[in-house]
Amino acid sequence: MATLTLSSLSKRFGDAAALAPTDLEVADGEFVVLVGPSGCGKTTLLRMVAGLETPSDGDILIGDTRVNGLEPRARDIAMVFQNYALYPHMSVRRNLAYGLKLRGMPKHEIARRVEWAAGLLGLDEYLDRKPRALSGGQRQRVAMGRAIVREPQLFLFDEPLSNLDAKLRASVRVEIKRLHQRLGTTTLYVTHDQVEAMTLAQRVVVMNRGRVEQVGPPAEVYAKPATTFVAGFLGSPPMNLFEARVTATGDAVEIPGVDAALPLPTAVEGGLRVTLGIRPEAFLPTPDGPLPFSLDLQEPLGAETLLHGNIGKQACTLRLAGDAAQEEDRLGRLAVAPEALHLFDAESGFRLK
Ligand code: ATP
Repeated sequence: MATLTLSSLSKRFGDAAALAPTDLEVADGEFVVLVGPSGCGKTTLLRMVAGLETPSDGDILIGDTRVNGLEPRARDIAMVFQNYALYPHMSVRRNLAYGLKLRGMPKHEIARRVEWAAGLLGLDEYLDRKPRALSGGQRQRVAMGRAIVREPQLFLFDEPLSNLDAKLRASVRVEIKRLHQRLGTTTLYVTHDQVEAMTLAQRVVVMNRGRVEQVGPPAEVYAKPATTFVAGFLGSPPMNLFEARVTATGDAVEIPGVDAALPLPTAVEGGLRVTLGIRPEAFLPTPDGPLPFSLDLQEPLGAETLLHGNIGKQACTLRLAGDAAQEEDRLGRLAVAPEALHLFDAESGFRLK
C-alpha cells in the first residue's frame, strides 16, 4: 500500500483545459472518490494516475516514487473499468490468473492468489465457468478479482458500476466497500453518481469543469457545501437554491414574494443579494411557519414522500418521512431551523462565512 500525491497536475487537449492544476493527497489505505458531472475531468485525472494519459504539467507520486515517466505496468496499480472486458474464451480461474502469468509469477503463488481472491469475492463455485455463464454482477466481481490478485499498491476504479442495473449496483457497491474494509488498499474511484460517492468515500473530491470544487468527508461536504455547485450536486433530491436577499439589519433573509423573513443563526452584511440553500428534508410543516408552500405534485416512495411545489415564485422540493399525502392540509406553511439555512454569494456561488 502507498500514498498517492498529485501536485499541480494538469491536462490540456490542444487549447482546451481538461484539468486545471490540481493538488491532492490520498493517504495510505484511504478510499477517495472523484465525483462530478460528465466532462468535469475526473476520468482524465484517473487515466493520468494510471499512466494511460500524459500530464501536461505537474507530478504524480505513488509512495515516494515519481511515476510520471513510468509505464502503466511499472506503477504497481490495478484498474477496474466500467467495461469489464473479461477474456470470453477463458474460465474465471484463467481470467484471474492471466495477468499474473504474464508477469511470470510462479504457479503455486498464482494458485494461492486466485483461491484467495475467489474466496474474498464469493467466486469459488464459478471458477470453472466461462464469463458468458455469469451474471453482470458476477462478471464485475471477476474484474475486481483480477485487480485484487495483483495485490497492488493502489486501486483505480473508473465508473465500475455503470453497466449494472440499479439493484445490482447497490449490492456490488456494498461489496466494494466491504472489500476495502478488509484489504485497506489505497483507492481512487471515479463516478458521476453522487450516491456512490457519498456511500463509498472516506473523502470525496467534487469536480466541476476541470476544477476541484471541494474535498472532504462526505458528511462534512453534505453539511457545508462550499459552493452552489456542490450544494446542487450532492444530495438526492439536491438542495433547493432560492434567489434571496439579506435584510438591512443583516440578521434574517427574505425570499421574494414571501412576507416573513427567516432569522439567520449569525448576522451577515445587510442588504446582500444571496442564493439561499435549504435541503429538502430541512422543511418542517408548521401551522404558523413563515414560508407559504403551494403543492404541485407528490412522489410517494414508501418510507418517505417527495413534494414538489413553490415558495413565492420559486420551485421547491420537500422530503417528508412517511406518507405525506395523509397530511396535505398541514403542508401550507413551513418552517426551517436557522442552522439549516445555507447562504451563498449570489455572484460567485461561494458559501458565505
Ligand atoms: P465522463 O463522466 O463523461 O467520462 P469525465 O468527467 O470523466 O466525464 P473527462 O473524460 O476527463 O471527463 O473529460 C474532460 C474534458 O476533456 C472533456 O471536455 C472532454 O471532452 C475532454 N477530453 C477528454 N479526452 C480527450 C481527448 N483525447 N481529446 C480531446 N479532448 C478530450
